[in-house]
Amino acid sequence: MSNYSFDVLFIGAGIMGSASAYALSKELDSKEQNLSIGVIDLDLEGEHSSTLKNAGGVRATWRNRANIELCKYSIDFYETISEEIQFRKSGYYWMHDERSWEEIERNYPLYKKYNLPVELYSTDDIPRFLSFVNNLEGISGLSVSKKAGLIDHYSLREHYRRHARERGVKFFDRIYVKEIFVQNGEASQVIADDLRSSDTESKNLDGIIQSILTEGEVGHNFKEVTFKCGTLINTAGAWGPRVSEMCGFKDTMVKPRRRQMVVMKCPEVDLSSYGMIIDTSDIYFHEESGNVLAGYSNMDEPYGYNLEFSFGGMDEESLFVNYIWLPLWKRISKFEKVKFIRGWAGIYAETPDRSGYLGKVPGLENIYESIAHTGRGLMISYGAGVALADLILEGKIREELRSAEDLSRERPEGDLFEGLHL
Ligand SMILES: Cc1cc2nc3c(=O)[nH]c(=O)nc-3n(C[C@H](O)[C@H](O)[C@H](O)COP(=O)(O)OP(=O)(O)OC[C@H]3O[C@@H](n4cnc5c(N)ncnc54)[C@H](O)[C@@H]3O)c2cc1C
Repeated sequence: MSNYSFDVLFIGAGIMGSASAYALSKELDSKEQNLSIGVIDLDLEGEHSSTLKNAGGVRATWRNRANIELCKYSIDFYETISEEIQFRKSGYYWMHDERSWEEIERNYPLYKKYNLPVELYSTDDIPRFLSFVNNLEGISGLSVSKKAGLIDHYSLREHYRRHARERGVKFFDRIYVKEIFVQNGEASQVIADDLRSSDTESKNLDGIIQSILTEGEVGHNFKEVTFKCGTLINTAGAWGPRVSEMCGFKDTMVKPRRRQMVVMKCPEVDLSSYGMIIDTSDIYFHEESGNVLAGYSNMDEPYGYNLEFSFGGMDEESLFVNYIWLPLWKRISKFEKVKFIRGWAGIYAETPDRSGYLGKVPGLENIYESIAHTGRGLMISYGAGVALADLILEGKIREELRSAEDLSRERPEGDLFEGLHL
């Protein structure tokens, strides 16, 4: 006997699950159709989700049409709710090394085709735009992208959820999906652990949630809850491969990897009129409540679900010093005096070509996915939600987002490779 039953059931309520449930409910409204929609999450607040760990950057300057169209469509939408999501459309300023300069010159005609306001400048122009940069060594050029900037991920996610709830979407918290019934390629029911029962309150629930996310099931005896579903959607982010496996689909492409961010005090550098700034060292940084938020994607980081922050400290060995502070100080001498304030770790879901998966899961009839949009989940979320809703309701994606069909699993190898990535 099922406890709940939904026509459409999402597993994962981060930015992708929330945006997709919202977009689907909105489409249904406009078509005057009605489907019941449920969204399940172990950690609805998102304490450990990638959505609340990201840098807040949005841009549409990608190599592939699919990613450009989804981001551009999303940014158009973010502009309509800019105050609510604190959209600071103050641009992306990217200092390129030789390799990434070649890449951006190659991509530039496509940006123009999509009417993206991007301009390329020579190294000599840099002091005009970024007056605090006093060492130009290793820079081959600067790109300034204007349809880009920073948004508040929490407010955007809440916008999606609020408007989805208004349309009848039900969100479930502290529910961990552990089994999915699939027969003849169709998912019919989901079995989950229900962590909401009162006796878990005394058992360090947050610790349990974190260990479920990092280790998988941890052997607690929770009450089970079941959800019948007509259509099932995997929006479990970096945990997407676990959900795929429950459906009988072994996902060898999506790999989780820890990414870390720091906040530091640096009174001598005022970045308040800029959006995201990117150095040739691949450090990205921006102003955040009077401080500087910076991140670096350490490619030595092993794959796995590691949520421990390890970048802190000012000693010689510290990763913060070596990966962030020293390269920044080399580029901008005003970064000499910094105070480390805090940091955190989140999980990226990586794919071989650094583009996500959106579409029907191959070999399965009623199971879709929108996962592994790597460092792009926030900026792509609205467009990806709309594209997924189109696929579910119409079997094809609307013209403006048609290239998103390339994000299905059945794409030709390497075609969607994204070079300019962080
Ligand atoms: C350090 C860092 C910086 C980033 N910077 C940017 C940036 O500047 N711009 C940008 O666009 N993107 C950025 N990203 C990427 C972006 O954060 C992600 O692409 C995006 O948040 C993914 O959203 P999601 O909803 O797919 O996953 P998540 O937000 O992780 O949500 C997945 C949810 O699924 C739930 N879940 C998983 N398995 C189960 C299960 N079995 N049962 C129930 N619930 C389950 C989890 O609890 C989680 O809440 C960054 C990421 C990191 C880590």
